[in-house]
Amino acid sequence: MRLVLVGPPGAGKGTQAAFLAAHYSIPHISTGDIFRANLKASTPLGLQAKGYMDSGQLVPDEVTNEMVKDRLTHDDVANGFLLDGFPRNTVQAEVLRAFLAEKRTPLDAVLELAIDDALIIARLSSRRTCKECSAPATAAAQKCGACGGELYQREDDKEEVIAKRLSVYQEQTAPIVHFYRTEGLLVTISADGEVSEITERAITALSRVHG
Ligand code: AMP
Repeated sequence: MRLVLVGPPGAGKGTQAAFLAAHYSIPHISTGDIFRANLKASTPLGLQAKGYMDSGQLVPDEVTNEMVKDRLTHDDVANGFLLDGFPRNTVQAEVLRAFLAEKRTPLDAVLELAIDDALIIARLSSRRTCKECSAPATAAAQKCGACGGELYQREDDKEEVIAKRLSVYQEQTAPIVHFYRTEGLLVTISADGEVSEITERAITALSRVHG
């Protein structure tokens, strides 16, 4: 299964991606997680991305596209992959399509998690993230439910940056929904409800396009 997950920040992409990747036995490739890991390790890539990330803007396409193309040459993508957070604009979507077409491994589906703005803001401002494994948690949690690691609030989950991320989504990322609908790849589900309920919804919807 070669799958892209798309939806506004706070739709639950990271959470659903982890479950869906496990369900289909494919690697979960999150560009946000890769950037954050590079930032933590102070690599040149991390330092290059930091300013953009902290202010809720997109890292330049040249940097992001090369990083993703490199990741998609690793052996573990032989049976597919789940891309979370990429593509984020139509240039990235075109680059991905051309890259996969050349390898004769086109996408099977693009899953859109649809959700209201009011819910997004409530979710993001109370979101915490594990310092160790990047798993999401709520502000009420004391430690990471997945690995017991310490939790923190991402710089870009602070209220003033959330508004910027939402406008970046509307202006730059929302057009890819149209792009993938035209390609006949789009599968849209509601991202409102319990985590397990949304995972079931996703698997049912994807089974219609991918058996
Ligand atoms: P995320 O964890 O997906 O919300 O990503 C966090 C931040 O990483 C974004 O706000 C961007 O600054 C950067 N980022 C992640 N994915 C991309 C992408 N595909 N293109 C450009 N920047 C990205």
